[in-house]
Amino acid sequence: MIKTISYLGLGTMGSGMVSNLLKAGYQLTVWNRNAEKCEPFARKGARVADTPADAARDVDLVMYSVSNDQAVEEVVFGATGILSGINAGQIAIDMSTVLPATSLREQEAYAKRGADFLDVPVFGSKQESAKAKLWIVAAGKRETFEKVKPILEHLGQTVHYLGNNGNAAAMKLVGNLIVALEMEALAEALVLARKAGLDLNTVMEVVKVVDFRSPLIVSNGQNILKRDFSTSFALKLMLKDAGLIEKFGESLPSPIPALRVVEKNLELAVALGFGEENASALIKALEKEARVEVKSS
Ligand code: NAP
Repeated sequence: MIKTISYLGLGTMGSGMVSNLLKAGYQLTVWNRNAEKCEPFARKGARVADTPADAARDVDLVMYSVSNDQAVEEVVFGATGILSGINAGQIAIDMSTVLPATSLREQEAYAKRGADFLDVPVFGSKQESAKAKLWIVAAGKRETFEKVKPILEHLGQTVHYLGNNGNAAAMKLVGNLIVALEMEALAEALVLARKAGLDLNTVMEVVKVVDFRSPLIVSNGQNILKRDFSTSFALKLMLKDAGLIEKFGESLPSPIPALRVVEKNLELAVALGFGEENASALIKALEKEARVEVKSS
């Protein structure tokens, strides 16, 4: 049974998950590149590790959620990375959104150390992470999944098993393709409604009830009308994911024509300086072109 856990990467997603693991009573070690982010958890009883290798030593399970493939490269494969601390019998799970090929490389490297590995990306954002309401997908050996499942159930409202390593990473990109297209659809639609002179609060009332409604569209639409772009899922991370989806689509190959349009808009929004804001700030690129601002009257 898993009792001791290390968690690396205390960003938007990781910090919510660590709070919930502490609440569930696990003995926790934390590590973050910027060590200041460890302090609130140290005050709640977590041990703070000096390096990823140090964090990985002598725990049952090592979990991490970092920005991108490059960050995984450093945290896992780097000179003081997890791989230089982990040993046979331990389990590592990567909760970041990365290419399926990266997950497979991780799995092979862990196997050489005698450790097991699952790719376990998540759906949901800051709120879902904080409230243990994530939608979690996991892939790797079934018996390893069964060992880790009780921990994942402390973090999410659903946990799906996808089979072989890399499949959960692929599922995450499949899902984020839908997220990217929904965000673009919302942004284009609200700018169109604004140009057409419609009452935007009524537009959102309709969008909330019709058969194409989605929680993502409703919450982001309402926040756009309030001009609230505080970050749950950073625009720069959505651009990163668009790049991953593009690479993944090309590798199969599978057509992604609409995604390419969204990616261009995301690039433009980042170039305009909105990369650190929420992904919904994608609308600001369209607003600039249309010379309007979408907000409630
Ligand atoms: P975030 O708030 O930007 O946090 C990123 C984390 O990665 C921080 O702990 C950061 O450390 C660390 N990091 C970045 N580069 C690093 C490097 N080179 N070496 C070591 N650590 C590094 O991101 P997040 O929103 O928590 O997202 C984390 C992952 O979950 C991403 O892969 C993202 O795509 C995915 N995800 C996010 C959401 C969401 O809604 N936010 C939803 C689902 C999945 P510092 O604090 O030192 O910068």
